[in-house]
Amino acid sequence: QTVVMARVALHLQVVRQRRMLERLANIDGLTELANRRRFDEIFAIEWQRARRNHAPLSLAILDIDAFKQYNDRYGHPAGDRALRSVARVAYAAMRRPTDLAARYGGEELVLLMPDTDAANAEGVMEELREAVVNLAIAHEASSVAPVLSASIGGATLVPDGAELQFELFEAADAELYRAKQAGRNRVHWRGR
Ligand code: GH3
Ligand code: MG
Ligand code: MG
Repeated sequence: QTVVMARVALHLQVVRQRRMLERLANIDGLTELANRRRFDEIFAIEWQRARRNHAPLSLAILDIDAFKQYNDRYGHPAGDRALRSVARVAYAAMRRPTDLAARYGGEELVLLMPDTDAANAEGVMEELREAVVNLAIAHEASSVAPVLSASIGGATLVPDGAELQFELFEAADAELYRAKQAGRNRVHWRGR
């Protein structure tokens, strides 16, 4: 009896430790979003699934506007808090269980929306852009807005031809660049 109990206890401990290690390997410590490693993994899986199902796959990249100036003006710890707040609204914007918000690096987040067409994905990202502004985090050093804002570039693809996975990412990145060029605090989108 006691031997069985001890074995069960040990097993539970191993399961708990494995869960914690998986968490450490997949979650970004600052924002508690999925990290880049996790994103890369899920992106590859969802890409293959979209190809099999002839389904649209939408990907967006969010980059905070004038964040260097924010740090310079309010300090790095305040910058960290602002980034966490943006991460929280990005997480909240993802409504389906298969949607994923991740921290790609620095002040850049990626948002993956499987089975979501361009119109819907762009709409969700427009709501996210508004939600960031509605956080009403004062940013007096920004030339974009009196509050913290973000630019979002996105793309949608039905990967049923010769499309490659990195092309979807590069399309979203190119749209992010266009959003920045056009004045920031806006969403630019490519695809059907
Ligand atoms: P842009 O509107 O063109 O995006 O301007 P920007 O200043 O946001 O762009 P840039 O990429 O030049 O600077 C990003 C800044 O984000 C620089 C870096 O110090 C800051 N940053 C990146 N990661 C973190 C972080 O984890 N915490 C804080 N506080 N700042 C960060
Ligand atoms: Mg950046
Ligand atoms: Mg930036």
